[in-house]
Amino acid sequence: MTDRVFNYCAGPSTLPLPVLEKAKAELLSWRGEGLSVMEMNHRGPLFSQILAEAKADFAKLLSIPDTHTILFMQGGATAQFAAVPMNLLGDKGKADYIVSGNFSKIAAAEAEKYCKVNIIASSADRDFTYIPKAEDLRPDPDAAYVHYCSNNTVFGTAFSYIPESGDVPLVADMSSEILSKPVPVSRYGLIYGGAQKNIGPAGVTFLILDKSLLGKAMDITPTQLNYTLTEEKDSLWNTPPTFSIYMLGLTLKWLIAEGGVEEMAKRKKERSRVIYDLIDNSSFYTPRAEVSARSDMNICFKTPSAELDQLFIKTARAKGLFNLHGHKVAGGLRASLYNAMTMEGTYALAEFMKEFERENV
Ligand SMILES: *Cc1c(COP(=O)(O)O)cnc(C)c1O
Repeated sequence: MTDRVFNYCAGPSTLPLPVLEKAKAELLSWRGEGLSVMEMNHRGPLFSQILAEAKADFAKLLSIPDTHTILFMQGGATAQFAAVPMNLLGDKGKADYIVSGNFSKIAAAEAEKYCKVNIIASSADRDFTYIPKAEDLRPDPDAAYVHYCSNNTVFGTAFSYIPESGDVPLVADMSSEILSKPVPVSRYGLIYGGAQKNIGPAGVTFLILDKSLLGKAMDITPTQLNYTLTEEKDSLWNTPPTFSIYMLGLTLKWLIAEGGVEEMAKRKKERSRVIYDLIDNSSFYTPRAEVSARSDMNICFKTPSAELDQLFIKTARAKGLFNLHGHKVAGGLRASLYNAMTMEGTYALAEFMKEFERENV
């Protein structure tokens, strides 16, 4: 399809073309049933099948053990910043947070409303250009949980290790890297995120929750945000975002067909290497993150000036390369190379970057 641009948006982001084509083909009549997914009764047999397949495919892709359950909720990862403490604090009045970027900072601030937040590590001192070291973490054995964000979408950094939390449940916001690599799910009490970065459209939030953490919600927890009720009703307490779950499900089927998370892990390295190598071999582009902390999903960099950054964004857009601006709190430029970004899209960006450098040094 020649009329589609390359989209490097951090979220909502580019979706696999075969997924969009499949949705288009069955938009009016899902699997020949004579109605669109958008028009289905969310408790009827047709949508039940869509939901069950999405959960089964998710479990298959990440080898999710029986100890964990998959929930679909609404309100984005942001709603989870409140839901996590409301559901997991139990009788503990405190939780540990690692602040390594924009969203973990917001998550910690939200949790402050419900408990004592202990920031056990932070990379704010050097403007989130690095990831705190594993050996510097001192989790409180009496905390309700340890929360961190595994891939920092805004600052382009990622954890290369899993924080050690002892017997305390580990909670991870994996919005911008879920299903880009294998994850040892049993090490986590909860993994959550918005689908719109790497595995679907906006509107649905995924949770992979250790079932032993159910039943601890605070009395004031809104029904909508209660994990236990959500689990009891199989994510159908009220009307779920049916079309978003369907699109997520199509993306999961695409992921399985493409070779799963091992293959995605290989591809993301291939993509990011092309761009990081180019930046490292250039005196025109400067990378934002320290080498050891670099994210494969979100690559943050800049040109010699803010004016040239603006010209870069504008010139790229005119050539069909969209959304290369940095997040407002980070500035500069950012290329998000999620699962659905092709090598063709990666090389197109690299070619453009070389050309822009030649014309503007
Ligand atoms: C985008 C993002 C969020 C916020 O997600 P919403 O779905 O918009 O609430 C939170 N955490 C991370 C890591 C993100 O990338």
